[in-house]
Amino acid sequence: MTAIWSNPAHTVPPISLTGDSGIDRAAHHRLDEAWLAAAWSHPTTRVFVVSGGQVLIDDTPDGRTELVMTPAFEAPLTEQHRYFLGTDTDGVRYFALQKDSLPGRMDESARPAGLREAGQLLGDRDAALMAHAVALENWQRTHRYCSRCGERTNITSAGHIRRCPACGAEHYPRTDPAVIMAVTDGEDRILLGRQMHWPEGRFSTLAGFVEPGESIEQTVRREVFEEAGVVVGDVRYVASQPWPFPSSLMLGFLARATSVDIRVDGEELHEARWFSRDELRAAFESEEVLPPSGISIAARLIELWYGEPLPKGRPF
Ligand SMILES: [Zn+2]
Repeated sequence: MTAIWSNPAHTVPPISLTGDSGIDRAAHHRLDEAWLAAAWSHPTTRVFVVSGGQVLIDDTPDGRTELVMTPAFEAPLTEQHRYFLGTDTDGVRYFALQKDSLPGRMDESARPAGLREAGQLLGDRDAALMAHAVALENWQRTHRYCSRCGERTNITSAGHIRRCPACGAEHYPRTDPAVIMAVTDGEDRILLGRQMHWPEGRFSTLAGFVEPGESIEQTVRREVFEEAGVVVGDVRYVASQPWPFPSSLMLGFLARATSVDIRVDGEELHEARWFSRDELRAAFESEEVLPPSGISIAARLIELWYGEPLPKGRPF
């Protein structure tokens, strides 16, 4: 029995994109066109452009990184692609504007960034606004036609619903649940795998999509057995993370293996190994294993078991 299993209050390391944003999504305003029009033209309202999953970010003189936002009157207006994201505690309203390209910037330090990069740099408020906008944009770009009758649909609810003018169907942004799990065995080793397309040495937790008719605990057991041939018993939920690449919700678990023999599927996983903490530390030091980098909950799940922050990973 290890600390992470015996102590339910064990602290989960901070997970990117899940911090306290201070934003109230204020969904009750989404269908109120008069309210939205007034909010749009209010001088304190802030707007940022999202295009192809990217936004403009900029560094502040005091060393922080922020979304580049303008008052709405400076932002180009196309109501069809105006997403209302919410209000903060000062009453400032936030919108994202979906465009075919990012605006040019006079300020040379402003630069385009996707969520994988920006999510590590932005504060909680801006990271949450960006994750919301990128998730909506991903859905809007790929769900333009009615899945019932094939007609082109119209955007409504300030970017949160597409309505079909022919059959009346309403379509909502989709979120696909996926599980990601730190599997440990009776000797308190962790199971890490390397996917087929990953570079040599990069290992991380196993993960997979929830299938129709499954509970998420069943998904954890099925995925670990399918990918690595390891049988899982107890499963405990840890935390979740929005993962709009393009539309997932990552559900993080601890999972306890009841078998240790590994048989990788050779389709998703190229290799899987059990690591003790000492073995993983030595593998990091020799660079035989590259620590997971970036904003993913995977690194946090490994740290929960490892007991300390992982070495800084190289981007891959
Ligand atoms: Zn339709």
